[in-house]
Amino acid sequence: MSQKLLKKIKDVAKEEGFILAGITSPKAPPHISTYLDWIDAGRHAAMGYLADDRARKRRANPRLILPEAESILVLAAPYPDPKFAEASEKDSLHGQISAYAWEDDYHLTLKEKLQNIVAFIESEVGHPIPNRWYTDTGPILERDLAQRAGLGWIGKNTCLIHPKIGSYFFLAEILLGIKLPIDEPFTADHCGTCTRCLDACPTQAILPKRTIDANLCISYLTIENKGEIPEELRPKLGNLVFGCDICQEVCPWNQKPDRSSRPVRFGIKIDPHPNLIAELSLTPQEFNKKFKKKPVKRAKRRGYLRNIAVALGNAGDPVAIPALEKALDDIEPLVRDHAKWALNKIKLKGK
Ligand code: SF4
Repeated sequence: MSQKLLKKIKDVAKEEGFILAGITSPKAPPHISTYLDWIDAGRHAAMGYLADDRARKRRANPRLILPEAESILVLAAPYPDPKFAEASEKDSLHGQISAYAWEDDYHLTLKEKLQNIVAFIESEVGHPIPNRWYTDTGPILERDLAQRAGLGWIGKNTCLIHPKIGSYFFLAEILLGIKLPIDEPFTADHCGTCTRCLDACPTQAILPKRTIDANLCISYLTIENKGEIPEELRPKLGNLVFGCDICQEVCPWNQKPDRSSRPVRFGIKIDPHPNLIAELSLTPQEFNKKFKKKPVKRAKRRGYLRNIAVALGNAGDPVAIPALEKALDDIEPLVRDHAKWALNKIKLKGK
């Protein structure tokens, strides 16, 4: 297939809102052994779906996902810079939600865009093409493939970073049953001697070899973790109630991103700094309504209110005591337990 078709595909990807696009082959990703070592060391915490035999084999060989795969189109879709939250309250009685979760759920919004790109390619070649697309949902090492498709390098914080754009973007991939010209891999490592992300991580979750210990990562603890948050880590969460942007916020490559490549406005649908006391009283119906089709729904009400209770404990403000006492009767044991911890913390502080 020609460079001409590739250019057209990249143009269509841009029209669909993707800010980076590159093609790589379905060969084994270069850092598969790092991934397997990470799993074997138990750094994936309770995310067992990352560790089973199927997950390992598919990540090592994208053709197990789509046997006809000849090329992989890797794409990047921007999300807001956490610095640019609309003016909202930022005192200690307000939480902080990770910037990727401010808009509608990207799994839903990117789906149509990826389907449009496939439809375009099929119309250009004149016949259906075997394909499979993912956006952080499939058994695929997407950052590895993105690096090999020329989109950027994997930073010490494990995010994919583009030298002009930074790292505030989602990755998506389309496995395609047609051969397309392969892009040059991104070989430079612009982290150099910088250690800002390692120094800033509140829980020291960042490990060597561009990996993270999920057991310590605040994003894992507040989103994927379905159980309790270890007591010794709770104070380190501060007011982070869903995800964490710290290792990206301190990264020098996110300080002056090329504005021309990013949207002027984003479709921000939630308050990035929610009122903690109000959130703690959300009923299941209110939670479902408020976060319908939003990434926060992933934590479920019990996980989100668990995080809210921890943030209130960390705020240490006695004004939260009535709301926390009410939460001692919550229908969810997880919420009750964390509310109890928060109350103790506030009372201890007052002594
Ligand atoms: Fe690399 Fe520094 Fe960014 Fe960390 S903060 S990812 S070390 S450039």
